[in-house]
Amino acid sequence: TQPILEVKNLTVEFTVHGRTIRACDNVSLTINRGEIVGIIGESGSGKSTLVFGILNLIQAPGKITSGEVIYYPKDGNPVDLRKLTPQDFARYRWTYLTTVFQAAQNVLNPTLRVKEHFLETAWAHNPNMPEEEILAKARDLLSHVRLEERVLDCYPHQLSGGMKQRTIIALSLILDPDIIFLDEPTTALDVITQWYILEILRRIQKEYGLTMVFCTHDVSIIGSIVDRLGVMYAGQLVEFGPVLTMFKQPTHPYTAGLMSAIPSLRDDVTKRKAIPGHPPDLANLPDSCRFAPRCFACAKGICDGDRKKTEQLYPSHPGQYTRCYSWEKVFQP
Ligand code: ATP
Ligand code: MG
Repeated sequence: TQPILEVKNLTVEFTVHGRTIRACDNVSLTINRGEIVGIIGESGSGKSTLVFGILNLIQAPGKITSGEVIYYPKDGNPVDLRKLTPQDFARYRWTYLTTVFQAAQNVLNPTLRVKEHFLETAWAHNPNMPEEEILAKARDLLSHVRLEERVLDCYPHQLSGGMKQRTIIALSLILDPDIIFLDEPTTALDVITQWYILEILRRIQKEYGLTMVFCTHDVSIIGSIVDRLGVMYAGQLVEFGPVLTMFKQPTHPYTAGLMSAIPSLRDDVTKRKAIPGHPPDLANLPDSCRFAPRCFACAKGICDGDRKKTEQLYPSHPGQYTRCYSWEKVFQP
């Protein structure tokens, strides 16, 4: 495995009314070429901020206050994305790193046909690309997302929500990106459509050898498609590892809670439990471990919730890291 992206100590702060919050606090993680990484966490945990931070898209009142984001191109030297000039960065975006964002459905311009979206996107980055070449590629991509060619002549309002989403996915691939970030790309869709789109994404990923980073607050949706999973809580990455062991042997009480909240067909409904309580106010963090107020291990006195000890991640299972320094005591075999 080769890294494609290395995020080191990325911190993003928002200052509103004189109060500063760290929406993304010292996050480090490595994404390998060709894998699918999922990022999960409750609403407000910092998933979108992490992705926007990686892509240097944080806008005021937000600010990246520290960190490096190293991109390893297929050939050529590694680049620190944060050190690129805006012009160079614009070239990297779309061409190498692309995105399908939350509420992406609005990215389609209602006055343009789908065809024109493909042409404009391609020409914005390569003005010399012949129209026929772009359209041939667009047709190929559309067939990959199971859309007929005639969609090219449609206006966005003529498409259903699921069709729009698939169109956007096809559009985001027109420049052959290396890595694609999907931030809740399916939340606006019904469950069947969500599964259908995930299935399509998985196939595209295999065929094109793409790297994907997938953010959602719904673990049950992505559990089956990602290779590795990161869990965000109150701005911190609290656990990271291979998806199988994250499900079977979570080593952070928050991950364990998320996993047990997943409905399954055979599940006894009464055994499913959401985690009681809610995340801390980022402007008013507890003096302890951020999860302590909701943690069963703290409640039972298994762990003392020392904040200092949660300032790093600890290796637990192979390739798995947790911020819970008491994980061995908490998850006895
Ligand atoms: P969701 O699941 O709802 O998309 P998320 O995990 O993506 O949530 P973020 O959108 O990254 O969470 O937000 C993390 C924190 O940063 C939140 O507390 C939010 O209030 C704060 N935040 C995000 N964007 C801004 C902004 N533009 N101005 C002020 N605060 C912001
Ligand atoms: Mg978000």
